[in-house]
Amino acid sequence: MAQSSQNFDYDLIVIGAGSGGVRAGRIAAGHGAKVAVIEGDRPGGTCVIRGCVPKKLLMYAASFSADVEDARGFGWQIDGLSHDWPGLIAAKDAEIGRLENIYRSLLKNAGATLIEGWGRVTGPNEVSVGADVYRAGKILIAVGGAPQFIDVPGMKDHTISSNEALDLPEMPKDIAIYGSGYIALEFAGIFNGLGARTHLIYRSDLPLRGFDDDVRAHIATALTDRGIILHPETTIDHVTAENGGKQAHLSDGSRLAVDQIMAATGRRPNTANLGLDDLGVKLGKQGEIIVDDMSQTNLPSLYAIGDVTNRINLTPVAIAEGHAFADSEFGNRPRKADHANVASAVFSQPPIASVGLSEADAVNIHGKVTIFESQFRAMKNTISGRAEKTYMKLIVDAANDKVVGVHMMGPDCGEIMQGIAIAVKMGATKADFDATIGIHPTAAEEFVTMRTPRKEG
Ligand code: NDP
Repeated sequence: MAQSSQNFDYDLIVIGAGSGGVRAGRIAAGHGAKVAVIEGDRPGGTCVIRGCVPKKLLMYAASFSADVEDARGFGWQIDGLSHDWPGLIAAKDAEIGRLENIYRSLLKNAGATLIEGWGRVTGPNEVSVGADVYRAGKILIAVGGAPQFIDVPGMKDHTISSNEALDLPEMPKDIAIYGSGYIALEFAGIFNGLGARTHLIYRSDLPLRGFDDDVRAHIATALTDRGIILHPETTIDHVTAENGGKQAHLSDGSRLAVDQIMAATGRRPNTANLGLDDLGVKLGKQGEIIVDDMSQTNLPSLYAIGDVTNRINLTPVAIAEGHAFADSEFGNRPRKADHANVASAVFSQPPIASVGLSEADAVNIHGKVTIFESQFRAMKNTISGRAEKTYMKLIVDAANDKVVGVHMMGPDCGEIMQGIAIAVKMGATKADFDATIGIHPTAAEEFVTMRTPRKEG
């Protein structure tokens, strides 16, 4: 093995070959660094192997059932529908295998070495993988997170997480999903769309805490209209299993018997077995690695990016953090990853997308805000007979006319919001939105045609 500077084996060792770690490793290697990336599972990480990608493939599968219903309104006569769950899972697995290979090639083509095994930080410049010890000038931890189970009797033993939900041998006839965050809503849409009787159990009054309250209210209505059974302000006290099924014992005293219970109650950073305590690395309450805005820990040679730092837990953010780290430390171009105005989408059915602030946060930060909103039945839904409405909202800082929050629930909102995010990032004002001519007929044009405020700032 060629020796790196100061007799290190590598300039950089990355632990974790997910989206963020692979980006950091590739860019650092491109800057001339000698890089190893350690991975104990499959390269690709949460997003590619058990997150964004397989989830979205299953979401597409589930969305066809509503498309078929809608198609009938347009004259299509479709009978005898059935779905082949094992066929879907096999097709999804083949695609994930293809992507995993691409991730392996990306590292190889960048000149980085993939070391397969579980890494443990055993010194400021040292990582062990089993009996092998590697030394590097810098170590980057990009190991992500894992599902967390609430500590009530039977929960861990008798429920599945999103990991298992993506690989169930059989499609459940009924399922209870616990939580109402991104993962809960996305999987509720998947199982409901594929025909399972789907319950969503959550402790708050509305799903998606932290999102704009109007969007939360609209998605609750839309999920109910799509046939999902909502159990707001409810917790699961304990879980039992008998006769091949599962029972959720709810806080209202009732018992829900279903084929599967899925826990979607948040994720925890994967820091338990990394050896960080022994080195005095500062961790937060959730076990997240505390870093500064250059992703550096309190140990100068140790850095961390992505979900393991529990900043904004989104793949593109981890990638941005990994890229900024590599440019800063190996490309002679110090820069911080920018966490402002990160757009995101929840791939529920219907989906939700947003960029910037909720109305409540905007009021807290900016004081006076002007609110524009639009609610309408999309053109496709007229003939299809679907009653579901699209909801759109603009939040404008009354002091300077800047658009500080944009929210949408409705078809294609993830695709629409990406463009809107550029405008918001550039500091667009409501007048800039107004000066933009719409594309007709689209839903997106509503964002540039809202004239009458619902609330004046
Ligand atoms: P979230 O934080 O979004 O949601 C967690 C859910 O669990 C909430 O409904 C929360 O309730 C509930 N919960 C937490 N603790 C308890 C408890 N003790 N008892 C009862 N309920 C509880 O986490 P997810 O796991 O859904 O997703 C993790 C993160 O991954 C997301 O925040 C997001 O950053 C990312 N992600 C992004 C996706 C995307 O971009 N499309 C898709 C999937 C994940 P409450 O709201 O009341 O706290």
